[in-house]
Amino acid sequence: MSIGETVAAVSTPRGRGGVAVIRITGDGAAAVADRAFRPAGGGLLSERPPRTAVFGSVVREDGEVVDRAVAALFRGPRSFTGEDTAEISCHGGVAVTAAALEAVFAAGASPAGPGEFTRRAFINGKISLSEAEAVGLLIDADTEDRMKLAVNSAGGALRRKIEAVGDGLSDAVSELCAIIDFPDELISEDGGTDADGRIVTAVAKAAEDTEKLLSTYRRGAAVTDGVRTAILGSPNVGKSSLFNALTGGDDAIVTDIPGTTRDVLRRTVPFGGVTLLLSDTAGLRETDETVERIGVERAKKEAEDAEMIFFVVDGSRPLSEGEKEEISSLPPATRFAAVNKRDLPRGLSAEDETFLKEAFDAVAGISASNGDTEELADAVRDAFDSDRVDLSRDPVIWDARQRADLTAAAALLREAERTLRAGGPPDAACALCEEAAARLRMTDGRGIGEEIVDRIFSRFCVGK
Ligand code: GDP
Repeated sequence: MSIGETVAAVSTPRGRGGVAVIRITGDGAAAVADRAFRPAGGGLLSERPPRTAVFGSVVREDGEVVDRAVAALFRGPRSFTGEDTAEISCHGGVAVTAAALEAVFAAGASPAGPGEFTRRAFINGKISLSEAEAVGLLIDADTEDRMKLAVNSAGGALRRKIEAVGDGLSDAVSELCAIIDFPDELISEDGGTDADGRIVTAVAKAAEDTEKLLSTYRRGAAVTDGVRTAILGSPNVGKSSLFNALTGGDDAIVTDIPGTTRDVLRRTVPFGGVTLLLSDTAGLRETDETVERIGVERAKKEAEDAEMIFFVVDGSRPLSEGEKEEISSLPPATRFAAVNKRDLPRGLSAEDETFLKEAFDAVAGISASNGDTEELADAVRDAFDSDRVDLSRDPVIWDARQRADLTAAAALLREAERTLRAGGPPDAACALCEEAAARLRMTDGRGIGEEIVDRIFSRFCVGK
């Protein structure tokens, strides 16, 4: 879909709703809207002041009224996409929305591709890549934490941080370029320059900032994608009860007959500052019974795929040998022992307590059937460093592509720093910094190239 071509789509979800919004964008948006929408007071939408709601009718080519609606025209560049955009709010019924969209197509718009409006906003420089991605995240956000992160990133927190790192770096690059271009004037007899200290500091700072941003990935991904979490443990320790306590539902069957939870249930829940992708499994117990064996097989698979394990034990009795074996052979993941039934007298031996401490990343006391899971939430919060990242304020990355670019940038910057500290050639350091800047740029789809050139000449009196 080429930029400027006029496209339209329904921007609200399919199905019944009070209102549906049809968005039209492109060079011909005003003309299309003028054909498909007739203001109640007469005249054309494009004759009305832009950014103003106008009441009227959506009409077909043959003049038949499809629906009463409210329309507004946003003239580019003052629109979401940066192009002329019209929005028509009609009634939200499935048939009426389809008919209104049909009328818009008949008036000259083509169907918009997936993500077309946001893509155009990015290409037209209205938003950066991270902001565009955050818009997608915001649309999908189903927990408060995801929404916070998305609103914050859509508002430009990540873009501003990446730009700030890029600015610091372009200062260093421009100084290095000057040294390369004017060695006679800038390099003193001992082989150094006045700028050496500044350059190393700037490169090290850029590396540090990039690494700091990278360190937010674990939390960002945990909030957006969720952390695959398996609840494991022997029968009757309270796995289903924990699942219910976390999800707030009665989905898992809670019973005191060992081994009744056969299916793998899944749910997304915010917990301890991250989003859990939760599965409740039949436990890793060996069994001969066919149905249960299927459950156990699934449980094993779940456990292998899990990034995080809540291993539930019954704190009112000592650990069994079987449990100890299971614990010793747990797959690698962030592992928490959830010592359940803390409302009952503690029955674990001192030895058991030590064993648990050594085998797990953290041990938390809970009472699943009483909804007491705070200690476990705190343990998760600690593990994900959740308190140090403020999702509403701090720049946070959440996407594997962002991480890959920043990882590459950080490595290049550290290499540049080593080169500089070792008194290596400025052109080698400069090349590394420029490549790092390119990777940073890729993280957010924006460039600093021209600025670097500008800075070289603004800082040094080249024309003497
Ligand atoms: P699962 O087989 O591991 O899924 O265990 P369930 O969740 O079905 O629980 C087994 C039994 O332990 C049930 O009778 C629960 O009511 C009981 N139970 C679960 N959590 C607690 C708790 O925190 N305190 C007490 N006293 N009983 C609990």
